[in-house]
Amino acid sequence: MDEHIVDVLRHRVGKDERAAKTHDWYTATILALRDAIIDRWMESTRRTYDEGGKRVYYLSMEFLIGRLLRDALSNMGMTRDMENALRAQGLDLAALEEMEPDAALGNGGLGRLAACFMESLATLDIPAYGYGIRYVNGMFRQRIDDGWQVELPENWLAHGNPWEFERLESSYRIGFGGEVIAEGDGVVWEPAEEVEAIAVDTPVVGWRGKRVNTLRLWTAAALDPIKLDAFNAGDHIGALADQVRADSLVRVLYPADSNAAGQELRLRQEYFFSAASIQDIVRRHVQYDGDVRTLPDKAAIQLNDTHPSVAVAELMRLLVDVHGLEFNEAWAVTQRTISYTNHTLLPEALESWPLPLFERMLPRHMQIIYAINSRVLREARKAGLDDAAIAKISLIEESGERRVRMANLAFAGAHSVNGVAALHTDLMKVTVFAELHKLYPARINNKTNGVTPRRWLQQCNPGLTAIIKDAIGDGFLDDAEKLSALNALAGDAALGERVAEVKRANKVALADHIKKTMGIRLDPDALFDVQIKRIHEYKRQLLNLIETVALYDQIRSHPERDWVPRVKIFGGKAAPSYHNAKLVIKLANDIARRVNSDPSVGGLLKVVFVPNYNVSYAERIIPAADLSEQISTAGMEASGTGNMKFALNGALTIGTLDGANIEIKDRVGDDNIFIFGLTAEEVAARRADGYDPREIIESSRELGQALSAIATGVFSPDDPDRYTGLMGGIYDHDWFMVAADFDSYAAAQRAVDTRWEDGAGWRESAIRNIANVGWFSSDRTIAEYARDIWKVM
Ligand SMILES: *Cc1c(COP(=O)(O)O)cnc(C)c1O
Repeated sequence: MDEHIVDVLRHRVGKDERAAKTHDWYTATILALRDAIIDRWMESTRRTYDEGGKRVYYLSMEFLIGRLLRDALSNMGMTRDMENALRAQGLDLAALEEMEPDAALGNGGLGRLAACFMESLATLDIPAYGYGIRYVNGMFRQRIDDGWQVELPENWLAHGNPWEFERLESSYRIGFGGEVIAEGDGVVWEPAEEVEAIAVDTPVVGWRGKRVNTLRLWTAAALDPIKLDAFNAGDHIGALADQVRADSLVRVLYPADSNAAGQELRLRQEYFFSAASIQDIVRRHVQYDGDVRTLPDKAAIQLNDTHPSVAVAELMRLLVDVHGLEFNEAWAVTQRTISYTNHTLLPEALESWPLPLFERMLPRHMQIIYAINSRVLREARKAGLDDAAIAKISLIEESGERRVRMANLAFAGAHSVNGVAALHTDLMKVTVFAELHKLYPARINNKTNGVTPRRWLQQCNPGLTAIIKDAIGDGFLDDAEKLSALNALAGDAALGERVAEVKRANKVALADHIKKTMGIRLDPDALFDVQIKRIHEYKRQLLNLIETVALYDQIRSHPERDWVPRVKIFGGKAAPSYHNAKLVIKLANDIARRVNSDPSVGGLLKVVFVPNYNVSYAERIIPAADLSEQISTAGMEASGTGNMKFALNGALTIGTLDGANIEIKDRVGDDNIFIFGLTAEEVAARRADGYDPREIIESSRELGQALSAIATGVFSPDDPDRYTGLMGGIYDHDWFMVAADFDSYAAAQRAVDTRWEDGAGWRESAIRNIANVGWFSSDRTIAEYARDIWKVM
């Protein structure tokens, strides 16, 4: 490695050792590692071709992969070698790792799931491609200015990306608009506009380097990048308009869709990447198999949520219009190939597109969707479903403005529709998909999410990993469920002390980072209580903040009591157009400023909002957390994966019976988790029979005081009415049941204090969490998909 890295520095980076800057070494390090990866990559690809095996294709609008260097080194088993090679040059690997930008290709849990799945697919030696978009700017970077979120463009490609390979030979024309013209027996679509989709590949290394798969992201180019006649006529900007239009397709993730242009761009993005991916998949199959009808034997296409749903219509279009299959035969091939994962029950989050927009942009696909719909609705009629049920099954929303329902399209076009946690899957069957489930009762199944233990234990928490190895051997590195051997040692005081020492060291490291970046001093002996995730009303950061205010009041009123010192850490981005979520960020910062500068709390309470929460920040915070806040309104969080990462790192959960929290509770045991609040069933019942938050607020002194303090400007003296509306929402309707759950939440927090004061008891619970959440490895999840849905294992 020593010689190789110097050779790479000279010949590929073009620098001499003496002239090289740290960034040159960083690039050389990745390129040298990449050389080793490429050998495995080619071998993996060759093996798949030779075996004629089935491939899995994972289509996702997001891949929140974070940094790759540490992960790839560790999975290749080359960390030690690289460290030594760099040390010989006077360089520190850890410092180089810090230079890598987080790939900003995702937004939250759904995108991180796709990244964990890619790693587990390679680990389980399953041939797979991830397909998405290579966003130049991706998700915005969050800055906090005077407590407010400010969105800045994320420039993760500014210094180039040494991981990727542009594949100019893998490019496809993607059409938009135009007309469908009858021709002979069939039709031809003549698009008004075409752009070129070009593949950019990144290798994905599995654990122990068994297999290297491909993350294939599409970038866009104009067919005619410059109109020379226009340019020469003096229209220098107009001459480049096509290129700008193509470029806008791959600029940002989730452009604001509050205006018509933004909506149109989103649908264009979805079609762009779905169509390029489907064309690539069909081309590969036909090239090696010759017969498009055998596609389902060689390809399993998983749609991660509805963003790629239009792939159903695109595959039908290729099969019917290009390969000449009969509609029925094409439909059978499509359904046998495609499967769909649902990620949300929130009706406002179920994607649908205005029919006129869809028809204008994708006229042929609209015809195909009508044809699919007619088939589905005839089946529904034959099955005896009534008009009301049929209206819900239709791929077209008919009431009000007509819209194309992407979830119904995905459901109809798939042989498997899965939820991501047991409760979520149960609720799917009785809420959003109740009618479709009646029509196709075998289709819905559950695949509880998981996280990769390589990134979320081994790499982010090497201290804890070393202790576990000492205690139970290293079998858990290949099978996370072997962590259960720790159960026999959960009461071992010496092990408890060692686990606590590592936790403290991780807290010191986080506190140092926060001191350096934010200037806030944290006590590493305080309980680190963490809520990091997207800011959303259903995730109820507000419940946590209101309880923080109540605690602040209590500490000031009863300074004589033995309060457990707490650090409340918040982090997360709000969607740019989500007013209330942005206000919650400001509130967290207003509370932090007030509490942190109040000498009367005597350091017993600190509040921090960390800016720009992302994968790398998560890897820093989660190993340092004592308490994991998973407090969504029951029935609203599909699964959550943050909850799994925290438990794996020995944090105890305070949470509702929602998403995967329920399954975590079942595994770690009631004594090692703090459950509170209404169940999903109770939430639904309360909403149905006229829930009155005012009544509850009047009967809860602590809650009433906290709400009125916030509402009247105690934390916003510069703008006393800032939170009047936000608090008014809780008094008036409180859709997310903050008031209903407050007392139960506050009581659970005091139970947390009691458990914390019993140090040995807390440490035992921490070990029981680590011991019993190996099942939430994404290896287990992927093995289930492989066996039940993709039929590749
Ligand atoms: C795991 C993860 C998430 C998902 O967190 P939830 O608590 O499940 O919402 C979001 N963002 C990042 C960066 C993550 O690592």
